[in-house]
Amino acid sequence: MTRPGVVIAGTGQAGFQAAASLRQQGYVESITLIGDEPHIPYQRPPLSKEFVAGKQDVRHLFFRPESFYSTNRIDLLKGETVTGIERASRRVRLASGSSIPYDTLILATGARVRELPVSGVCYLRTLDDSTAIKHRLQTVEHVVIAGGGFIGLEIAAVARGLGKSVTVVEVQPRLMPRVVSPIISDFYRNLHASHGVEVVLGAGLTEIGPRPADLVIAGIGVLPNGELARDAGLATRDGILVDEYLRTEDENIYAIGDCAAHPNPFAGGRIRIESVQNAVDQAVCVASAIAGQRKPYHDVPWFWTDQFDIKLQMVGLSGGYDRVITRGNTGSGKFSVFYFRAGRLLAIDSVNRPGDHMAGRKLLANRIPLTPDQAADESVDLKKLS
Ligand code: FAD
Repeated sequence: MTRPGVVIAGTGQAGFQAAASLRQQGYVESITLIGDEPHIPYQRPPLSKEFVAGKQDVRHLFFRPESFYSTNRIDLLKGETVTGIERASRRVRLASGSSIPYDTLILATGARVRELPVSGVCYLRTLDDSTAIKHRLQTVEHVVIAGGGFIGLEIAAVARGLGKSVTVVEVQPRLMPRVVSPIISDFYRNLHASHGVEVVLGAGLTEIGPRPADLVIAGIGVLPNGELARDAGLATRDGILVDEYLRTEDENIYAIGDCAAHPNPFAGGRIRIESVQNAVDQAVCVASAIAGQRKPYHDVPWFWTDQFDIKLQMVGLSGGYDRVITRGNTGSGKFSVFYFRAGRLLAIDSVNRPGDHMAGRKLLANRIPLTPDQAADESVDLKKLS
């Protein structure tokens, strides 16, 4: 008799990767992948970049064609919501009324947009959101974006590239304030201004006036989807609490990706990370554990954002830095910012300098020390050190 196997709630980056990695690692029991969106699993990064700009066909968003799932014996349930977890009997309840047994449950429920208490605002999280915005962009002239974080700024760049007049309103005194240093914030403010984006800092969007901007989009962060775990009696606090193996308090239930608050050695504590790298590497880690190779999750965090012709790549976590060193010249549009605490390298943000980013990934992963002087000295070859 076949075992109930693995059930995965959520068909985003993390859920898809967990299913694919389980098969790659030789797992032979059933895999059921359940997602409430109507599409086969797809990637989100292009939704605020090439896809919304009309430069990428929807087919390129899908991780794999539909046939992949049947070929790999992955039961994909689209448009189906997991509504409850019966931990004692190890079953998940579905909105359609049925229930499915599991040996192991992976919660990969991701996050949902934080909303403004203002009506008439669009948000961007899903393929359907991006498709709707893409269509609106064909007809509108003015775009107002609430939130000067990654997603807001990426859309601003796309909208400007389509010839729209664009205003970005950020409540904090600088752009991308939660994650980058003022050097990077200033660079991006100038970048957007030089392309004709109006950037308003220190101001919040409170209402949409009688002559509204044609299109208002808010990108003001997300909230983790932890309710399923919480209602099943599992601990949640800004996400589903997991240990270093990404297991919840229930040894048969894991949580990965945007929804998982995990102990991270680079953060020096518990953190929830919203990135492709985090979703993929946590999925691989859990798939390995289920397939018999258990090891703690210790991967180096990294992230990227594309705005106009500039790629920002970030590695490590810069929170708590006490010193920054700039390598290269900000005026040249190619530079990196190194973040240190007590002389120890925490993170590197690289603007159009992929070599620094790749070397940084190795330095941080292998705990290779780098001094502030070495970071500043362009004659020091980071690749050789790493
Ligand atoms: P999600 O992708 O959110 O997937 C979770 C899925 O679970 C969703 O489909 C959700 O609807 C579903 N779900 C939730 N609850 C249930 C339930 N009860 N039953 C069934 N299904 C459920 N990261 C980068 O590193 N670089 C980038 O450039 C970048 N750009 C981005 C651009 C955009 C527009 C967005 C939205 C994100 C971007 N990200 C980027 C972040 C990255 O895409 C996310 O971190 C990643 O998708 C997280 O994957 P996940 O599987 O944890 O969650």
